[in-house]
Amino acid sequence: MGDTEQLVRQMSEKGLRITEQRRTLVKLFADAPGYLLPKEVYDHMQRSYPGLSFDTVYRNLRVLLDLGIVEQIVFEEGVKFKLHCEEPDHHHHMICLNCEKTLPIRSCPMPVTDVPGDFQVVKHKFEVYGYCSDCRESGEPAAPEESRSP
Ligand SMILES: [Zn+2]
Ligand SMILES: [Zn+2]
Ligand SMILES: [Zn+2]
Repeated sequence: MGDTEQLVRQMSEKGLRITEQRRTLVKLFADAPGYLLPKEVYDHMQRSYPGLSFDTVYRNLRVLLDLGIVEQIVFEEGVKFKLHCEEPDHHHHMICLNCEKTLPIRSCPMPVTDVPGDFQVVKHKFEVYGYCSDCRESGEPAAPEESRSP
């Protein structure tokens, strides 16, 4: 959960033109407790802006991603987006497969990764999946919530 106005300020400080559409998009993420599929984002945006194309929504998602407003994680069912963690520095994620709660991991495995001398690393991903304490206490991991929309 985040503060929409604060995020909007962050975006305009980074030079982004703030349109009503982008504000609506940020508010969606600020209010969302977890991850959203691009389709879910699109459905939400369609309600306020009928006729908006999926491409436009996706392009704006990419903009928020590039500005560090949202983060993306690849799940089995595809890429999902969520509001950026409060962790300001470089971090990785430990993700609950049941509730999708995300815990930041501050230690980065990259420095201890063997990189052949002639390979130039430009970026890396590292994610850990499992079950959070809440989900472990509730016994058997329940099946992840089935997709909310057809
Ligand atoms: Zn994060
Ligand atoms: Zn969990
Ligand atoms: Zn790293």
